[in-house]
Amino acid sequence: MYWQTGLIKSLLDPTNLIITTDVAVVIADKYPKARHHYLVLPKEDIASIFQLSKKHLPLLEELHLLARNIIEIRGESYESFQIGFHAQPSMQRLHLHVISKDFVSSCLKTKKHWNSFNTSLFITYETLYAQLSNEGHIQRLPKDIVDELLAKPLTCNQCAFVAKNMPLLKEHLQEH
Ligand code: AMP
Ligand code: ZN
Repeated sequence: MYWQTGLIKSLLDPTNLIITTDVAVVIADKYPKARHHYLVLPKEDIASIFQLSKKHLPLLEELHLLARNIIEIRGESYESFQIGFHAQPSMQRLHLHVISKDFVSSCLKTKKHWNSFNTSLFITYETLYAQLSNEGHIQRLPKDIVDELLAKPLTCNQCAFVAKNMPLLKEHLQEH
């Protein structure tokens, strides 16, 4: 579907590229789900995590280096970010999310948004790297597991608060 190639289109506009190296770029997420939200993408046309093999481990290290760079350039602390991949990505071209843990953003609207970053639907860089090293590929989660994770209660990522709905969670996140 055409919307799945939106990231690739964004890459073609040089004004979107915050950092560029020989092998990868950093862009701002167009619909940021937190105060800071960046995407690190390889220049090589790799569709998603499911196309990765062990030969890509050095590329992943480069993506992670750029994730650290953008956090430093913005003057933020590494600990205030989470860095990883969606277990069920929607957009084409492999992309590493670099997102601040505040999750304060007008673009954060749905339970799906929240749970895709705050359950095991979010695979941290370290976890994915270890999986690829050990198994040689990344496996898709079965649909029933994805549905179960998407339906999880709206638990705050910074305390034990469980919100009844997204407006209440967003109000709560503002107070942290
Ligand atoms: P994922 O669910 O991992 O595939 O995430 C795709 C991400 O790309 C989401 O965080 C979107 O907000 C973001 N996004 C969608 N379209 C664009 C675009 N044209 N340029 C930059 N980011 C985009
Ligand atoms: Zn909280």
